[in-house]
Amino acid sequence: MHEHGNLIGGTWRAARATLPVVNPSDGSEIGHIARGGAADIDAAVAAAQAALDGAWGHMDAATRGRLMFRAADLLRRDVDRLAALDCADVGKPLRQARADVIACARYFEYYGGAADKVHGDTIPYQEGYTVLTVWEPHGVTAHIVPWNYPLQILGRSVGGALTMGNACVIKPAEDASLSAIALAALLVEAGFPDGAVNLVTGLGEEAGAALAGHPGVNHVSFTGSPEVGTLVQAAASRHTVPTTLELGGKSPQLVFADADLEAAAPVVVNAVIQNAGQTCSAGARVLIEEPIFERFVNDLAARFDKLVAGPAELDLDIGPVINPAQQARIGRYLDIARTDGLRIAAEGKIASNAPPGGFYVKPTLIADVPPDHVLAQEEIFGPVLVAIRVRDEAEALRVANCTPYGLVCGVWTADVGRAMRLARRVHSGQVFINNYGAGGGVELPFGGVKRSGHGREKGFTALHSFAAMKTIAIRHG
Ligand code: NAD
Repeated sequence: MHEHGNLIGGTWRAARATLPVVNPSDGSEIGHIARGGAADIDAAVAAAQAALDGAWGHMDAATRGRLMFRAADLLRRDVDRLAALDCADVGKPLRQARADVIACARYFEYYGGAADKVHGDTIPYQEGYTVLTVWEPHGVTAHIVPWNYPLQILGRSVGGALTMGNACVIKPAEDASLSAIALAALLVEAGFPDGAVNLVTGLGEEAGAALAGHPGVNHVSFTGSPEVGTLVQAAASRHTVPTTLELGGKSPQLVFADADLEAAAPVVVNAVIQNAGQTCSAGARVLIEEPIFERFVNDLAARFDKLVAGPAELDLDIGPVINPAQQARIGRYLDIARTDGLRIAAEGKIASNAPPGGFYVKPTLIADVPPDHVLAQEEIFGPVLVAIRVRDEAEALRVANCTPYGLVCGVWTADVGRAMRLARRVHSGQVFINNYGAGGGVELPFGGVKRSGHGREKGFTALHSFAAMKTIAIRHG
């Protein structure tokens, strides 16, 4: 059984109250995490402030970078152990869980190399002045993360913040805290000074709300649902604290008649079934040009028919979804599809040996969905792909942009002009032409427009989100 407390100022403190840890593959209880509250958050923020006044606040950038590399080495050393945690806690098929650990290590390597390369400018100004800019850490940064990619999302968020010299307070998702706890322990082992990294587990409305609205926090990095993101931003704004909001999506994949359909089909399927569809950037809508609609839907259907969902350790196409509430939510959308007479073009299977207590959902392809239907508008967050018929480029653009979201877009076409026209006009933080996701590189700035959020994480540019620019003007005559 896993039994964990909170990391505050370099010390693990026993839990005063606990929450159960449940394995989604079979519904069994596999341990307990601390049910942290406002007092724990107060202590964590105070420890972070003390770190900024102490060794951490005075550490030079190159030394911070070396700690980041050490953390990456430890993540790679422990890849099997960490992957097993996400397998058991989140239901991630083993290969996907391993990929997440490696992605987390890549953030620490990428940002470790950047630590001593973020510099300011000198600005030409009036005679007798020298003006320069420097990037300074915000101070205490809060990191509130969801359950779907616990290690990757912490890597990009905490990795960027530590690189710039902030002291972090992490609030992992209540359904996925084990690998976050393990990461925090590895950062201590790597040599980050006491208080540079603090972690409080618990419920969103308790520990999460206390952290988002804490007056001692100087920046909030939130990844999660638009509903909670709005609450977090409102709480932070009470103290004029800046936020980065990485929220949901209903991302379109646009497939035109001139595209390489054989190359597109497996990518289109994978873009929505990865992580059982519980991916913010899932390609949840496929917009198919009229002349190839039936042919391409048939190809996708043949692939969906072969998909199998089952326990994480069997490493099948799809694991379980995170919890019974998520399973029921996806089921409700599938019920609406049936009630409204939508065409269920294909359904995958649940493995015959999947434990009955697990939270499984059949991967489902639904064809000819009207663009304004609830299934084409709302984030289902499950392995459900809706196929929408479009007449031409103009309609494809209109439909692509007709949801409240704007996170990612895929365009499949042989026409470079069309690809670039769409890339520039689509509402989206990232556009992929003749691919989807580009392998998820840590180097690629990521974030949304509209209801998908604001601010950017990933890539070099994100480091500026974790710092404030100071202008220094020297009058020397
Ligand atoms: P969620 O919003 O329910 O929870 C996210 C985090 O917020 C959790 O740690 C939770 O405990 C905390 N929280 C909940 N209520 C809170 C409150 N009142 N105050 C402060 N914190 C609170 O999201 P989820 O269900 O864990 O994740 C799924 C959502 O996350 C989806 O919408 C998905 O698209 C989105 N997501 C976005 C990205 C991205 O990078 N854009 C990445 C992954 C997931």
